[in-house]
Amino acid sequence: MSNTKNFHMTSEEFRRQGKQMIDWIADYYETVEKYPVLSQMHPGEISHQLPLDPPSESESMEQIMSDVNSIIMPGITHWQSPSFFAYFPANTSGPSILGDLLSSGLGVQGMLWATSPACTELETRVLDWLAEMLQLPEKFKSTSTGGAVIQDTASSAALSALLAARERKTNYQTNDSGCLGNLVAYISEQTHSSVEKAVKIAGIGRNNLRLIGVDEKLAMRTDLLEKAIEQDLVNGLVPFFVCATIGTTSTNAMDPLTEIGHICQQYQLWLHIDAAMSGTAAICPEYRFILNGVELADSFSFNPHKWMFTNFDCNCFFIADRSSLIKTLSILPEYLKNQATESGAVIDYRDWHIQLGRRFRSLKLWFVIRNYGVNGLRHHIREHVRLAQEFAGWIRTSNDFELVAPAPLNLVCFAHKKGNDFNRKLLETINREGKMYFTHTIIKDQFVLRMCIAQTHTQAQHVLQAWETIIKTVSELTI
Ligand code: PLP
Repeated sequence: MSNTKNFHMTSEEFRRQGKQMIDWIADYYETVEKYPVLSQMHPGEISHQLPLDPPSESESMEQIMSDVNSIIMPGITHWQSPSFFAYFPANTSGPSILGDLLSSGLGVQGMLWATSPACTELETRVLDWLAEMLQLPEKFKSTSTGGAVIQDTASSAALSALLAARERKTNYQTNDSGCLGNLVAYISEQTHSSVEKAVKIAGIGRNNLRLIGVDEKLAMRTDLLEKAIEQDLVNGLVPFFVCATIGTTSTNAMDPLTEIGHICQQYQLWLHIDAAMSGTAAICPEYRFILNGVELADSFSFNPHKWMFTNFDCNCFFIADRSSLIKTLSILPEYLKNQATESGAVIDYRDWHIQLGRRFRSLKLWFVIRNYGVNGLRHHIREHVRLAQEFAGWIRTSNDFELVAPAPLNLVCFAHKKGNDFNRKLLETINREGKMYFTHTIIKDQFVLRMCIAQTHTQAQHVLQAWETIIKTVSELTI
C-alpha cells in the first residue's frame, strides 16, 4: 500500500454510499407519484442555482445528494412515473438498473472481442435470443449470414443501415470516392425524423429523399412509392433505400411491410424496418403479425429502451448480411490489431456501428430477459395493450371525443370535438396540474392528444385516473 495522498473514494465509502444510493432509488420509485410528472421549472431556473465555477476542493456525497434533492429533482420530468403517457416510453426496471450498474462497475470498453470476450459473446447470444423471441427469420441470427448489434439509438441504427445500403448499391465505392449525388432514398411522410437526419449525414442529400404519401391509416402508400421510384429511374437517378416503420412516432401507424418488401426486391433496394417502440409487442405471438414481411428486409431495429423495461440506451439492430455492414464500417489501424481479430474467429463489434468504443450494454438486457422471463415480459406488454384498448373504447363511446387514428397497440390518439384551440388548452391544463403528462401531434391539421401506455408501472388505476382527469378538466374549461 502506498502512502501517496489521493482523492479517490475508498472502498468502504463506496460500499456505504452505494447502499444509500440504491435506497434512494428504491424510495424514488416508491414515491414517484408525489412529483409533478412534467417538470414545472422555467428555462434557467436550474442553472441559476448551480455555481459558475467547479469546486477546487472535495465535496462530500452528502452535500452532492443534498443538491440532487433540492436543485436537480425539481428539474426532472418523471419518465418513470406510472402516469407518464407522453411521447413514447423510456422505461426501466429493477434488473435493468442493476445490470447497468454492474456494467458501470466493470467499466468495460468492448470495442474488440479481445478487450472483453464476454462483452461480445453475451451480446451475440442475447441478440440471438431476441431474434428467437421476435420470430425473426434465420438470416438475422449470428449463426447465419447476418447477426445483430446493440447500438445507442434507433437513429444510429438507421444511419448504419443507410450507409451499408449506400455502399452495397455503389459496390463499396462511395466510401472511397464520395457521393455522386444520384442515390435516392424513400420514407413516408410519417417516418421518424432520424431517417431524414441520417440522409443528411450520409451525404445522400435532402433533395434525394422522397417523402411518400400515406393512406387513411397513415401508412405508406405503395402505389405512390412505386410511382416515385419509376420517376426517379426515368430521371437517371439511382433508388437504393426504403425505410418502413412499424409503429410511427406520431400515431403508431404500420407500413405494409410485405408490399414494400416486394417492391424493394423488384428494384433491388435496401429495406430497413424501424420498429422503435412497437417492435417489442412482437414478442407476444398474438401481435407478431405486425412484423409479417420482415423476412423481406435487409435490416430491422427496435428499442428495448422504449418498451422492454431496459434502461436507455439500448437499440437492437439486426442485419441480414453482416458482411455489407462490416465492409462499410471496418477500419483496422495498427494499434487495434490482435491475434483474435486476425484469426477471423471472433466478432469485433466496433465494425458494426459508427463509434469505436462501446459499453457492456447486453448485461442489462440479459438481466431483464432472465429476471422477467419471456412470459413475464409478454404479461406486461399484454397488460399495456389491454389498458390502451380499454381507454380507446371509452373514447369511442364518448359523445365528446373521437379517435383520430387507429389504435393497434398501446398508443391512443384522440381529440375533443370542440376543436384545436380547446384541445390545446385541455392539454396545457392537464400538464400544468402535474398529475399526469400527455403530448400531442397534428394529424391533417387537427390538434390531437396522444396517450401512450407503456410505462413499467402503469396500472388500470392510472389509466382510469387519467380518463377522470380529462373529463373533469373538460367540464372545468367548459364552465
Ligand atoms: N423511430 C421511431 C418510430 C421513434 O418513435 C423514435 C423515437 O424517438 C425513433 C425512431 C428515434 O429513437 P432514438 O431516440 O432511439 O433514436
